[in-house]
Amino acid sequence: MNRIEQGGACRPDFAVVGGGLVGRLVAWRLAGAGHEVALYERGDAAGTQSAAWVAAAMLAPLAEAAVAEPLVVGLGVASLERWPRLIAQLPEPVFFQRNGTLVVWHGADRAEAPLFERRLRANSPAELLEGGFVKLAGAQVPQAEPALGARFAQGWLLPNEGQLDNRQALSALAAGLEARGVRTHWNTAIEAMPDARWVIDCRGLGGKPAWPALRGIRGEVARVHAPGIGLTRPVRLLHPRYPLYIAPKQNDLYVIGATEVEGEDMSPVSVRSALELLSAAFAVHPGFGEARILELNSHCRPTLPDHRPAVVWDGVQTLRVNGLYRHGFMIAPEVAEVACQLAEALVSGDVGSADSFADFRAAARWPELLHGECMAASALQ
Ligand SMILES: Cc1cc2nc3c(=O)[nH]c(=O)nc-3n(C[C@H](O)[C@H](O)[C@H](O)COP(=O)(O)OP(=O)(O)OC[C@H]3O[C@@H](n4cnc5c(N)ncnc54)[C@H](O)[C@@H]3O)c2cc1C
Repeated sequence: MNRIEQGGACRPDFAVVGGGLVGRLVAWRLAGAGHEVALYERGDAAGTQSAAWVAAAMLAPLAEAAVAEPLVVGLGVASLERWPRLIAQLPEPVFFQRNGTLVVWHGADRAEAPLFERRLRANSPAELLEGGFVKLAGAQVPQAEPALGARFAQGWLLPNEGQLDNRQALSALAAGLEARGVRTHWNTAIEAMPDARWVIDCRGLGGKPAWPALRGIRGEVARVHAPGIGLTRPVRLLHPRYPLYIAPKQNDLYVIGATEVEGEDMSPVSVRSALELLSAAFAVHPGFGEARILELNSHCRPTLPDHRPAVVWDGVQTLRVNGLYRHGFMIAPEVAEVACQLAEALVSGDVGSADSFADFRAAARWPELLHGECMAASALQ
């Protein structure tokens, strides 16, 4: 690989700035292809400074179709296929499950159900709905999820959806970076971009100085330990203000989330949000009354004005990968792959001008993700 010695230091092919979810995936993938990669992360190797640390890591393209457009749904479907292959190559285990999502609602919120279903159907390809959306009534609800008993008269089972353990994924990716020889610089906040042939900016909301249109959408979650409840898959509770969910991880750990509040407010969880989240869990299963609260946490989802992810080439030596909003885990494998393919096209010289970038974009699987600085006018600014 191409290395240029500068002042005795080895100049990497790529400096990846921001080692949250996307930065780790991109650095790991490029190192696996034989490139010299350095990664700079302001936080620790565990990933505690990232939105990814707080996320529930549900991989639910069909449920999310109620709030996401077809592009994001498609990225989610493709990424759901990629995750198990990706995890299989990591040096540490990552809890990954494809046991579906259950959507339920209380009688008082029943008006939400037809609206949710209409939006979901509008944004989903037919093949995703085929066998992927099962209406349940009466005893079918506890047959699908015995822990719920007779508390919900109706529900929908979306059997093909998945979830994983976000913190295990971050840890396994950190181990994967070491195994592939990535020069990791943890606890290193970057202001001026480091020296490298190409820089890939994956700073999430931290990338705002270079991308003022980015904004944060605050999300709050609770993590509880609740032995004996035994939910087998994420349960979503329709709610007039924001969709609530309870995502069961290993060892009786549950992630209960998540609020969705405009603003870059990283302060601790509010009393109102804690009450709403925990009451929702209690209403789904009274056993949550005896759960132990391990953590109340908040972070901001990095969001672009059109709520789409984007991979932007500045026309020179910088790529920016951002805007994964509330779907980072759901879509990151596919978004990272797009970014890596463009990065490799820069290395090979296949992309080096506006025209060659336009050709690359036209041939790409997800052209909507790709932006040259010259075309970044409307939605991205
Ligand atoms: C409450 C909540 C729940 C969520 N639930 C889900 C879910 O169920 N499913 C799902 O798919 N997605 C979910 N998400 C969304 C997901 O977490 C994000 O989309 C994803 O983390 C974005 O990835 P990223 O790498 O772009 O940003 P991040 O994960 O935030 O990583 C960015 C990294 O850049 C680093 N950084 C920033 N500035 C600098 C700097 N100057 N120098 C060095 N490093 C820097 C940060 O420390 C951070 O580690 C949720 C998010 C939240 C907040």
